[in-house]
Amino acid sequence: MFNLKQRVYDEFNLKKQADELGVSVWQTPSFLFIIMGLVIIAAMTGIYVVSAHYDSPEVVVISESLVVILLFTIGNSIIRTVEEVAKANKMKTEFVSIASHQLKTPISEMKWQIELLLIKFSTGLSVRQTEIMNEIARSSEKMGRLVNDLLDVARIDQGQLALDKKNVNFCDLANDSVESQKIFAKARNIELVTSCNVDKLMVFADKRRLSVVLDNLISNAIKYIDGKGKVEIFVENVDGFAQVCVRDDGVGIPKNEQDNIAEKFFRSNNSIKNRTDGTGLGLYIAKNIIEQSGGKLWFKSIENVGSEFYFSVPLAIEKETVVA
Ligand code: ADP
Repeated sequence: MFNLKQRVYDEFNLKKQADELGVSVWQTPSFLFIIMGLVIIAAMTGIYVVSAHYDSPEVVVISESLVVILLFTIGNSIIRTVEEVAKANKMKTEFVSIASHQLKTPISEMKWQIELLLIKFSTGLSVRQTEIMNEIARSSEKMGRLVNDLLDVARIDQGQLALDKKNVNFCDLANDSVESQKIFAKARNIELVTSCNVDKLMVFADKRRLSVVLDNLISNAIKYIDGKGKVEIFVENVDGFAQVCVRDDGVGIPKNEQDNIAEKFFRSNNSIKNRTDGTGLGLYIAKNIIEQSGGKLWFKSIENVGSEFYFSVPLAIEKETVVA
């Protein structure tokens, strides 16, 4: 009910729409539709009045033609606005893609040089200098991740996210992901519990990208717990799909923000307040990877109680041996 009210309110909030689309209020599609509606009502009343007062068909035809011209003009404005928005969107995606490509190489180079410095010449560095170098290494690592995320977002928006699908042992993949997050969990005092109810769960998917999704959900679960807590990961076979549930007892997502969760750059208010180190791109990428893999991603969350993030991907079809 609340969502419906909010949607109706958003539909008529012309200022918000104009800001979102980057056009002026009178160019927003909703404003133009309202004007079009008013013109249609006025035109129908006008034509009725004209035809009641004038017997001459010429007058009626001329007034109808004027109305048609007016409607075409408004319709044309709507199409132009939509075209402009689509063009701007395309340019933005291309810019993000080019900028990320250009940034990728220098960031990787910087990372290698720092690693080299830390491995080969660390004996010559003081404790403070080593600390600073480690800090730079962490920052370049972060930059590298952000650039990779931006590249993935651009690929998704251009419909070019290619998946290299193969048969993958899903439980092994989930266990590897949990393993890779153990240090992070320990540092935050979070208990990581995992259970895979099946020995071998083969899925047909892109291994690297599926790991990205698992890493994102598990690291989010750890990241969005205040203080001590527990993250549980369940893997099971549900109706021909491998299904994962990542449950945490963390801060949760406020109900009125839950509809926006898979939008690009979305970060809930309660997480912005406490954690500055997020981009709001992980779930957008994860949702797209899973949907492109033929599965789905969903969640349940209660603020200050915790969240459960789920996703499922289709199982690999086992080839039957044909006996001659
Ligand atoms: P990031 O974590 O980098 O901000 P994500 O796309 O992974 O980006 O997540 C988007 C937002 O969804 C987060 O900023 C946070 O507000 C919310 N969120 C995601 N996972 C959880 C979770 N397990 N518990 C609470 N909030 C979450």
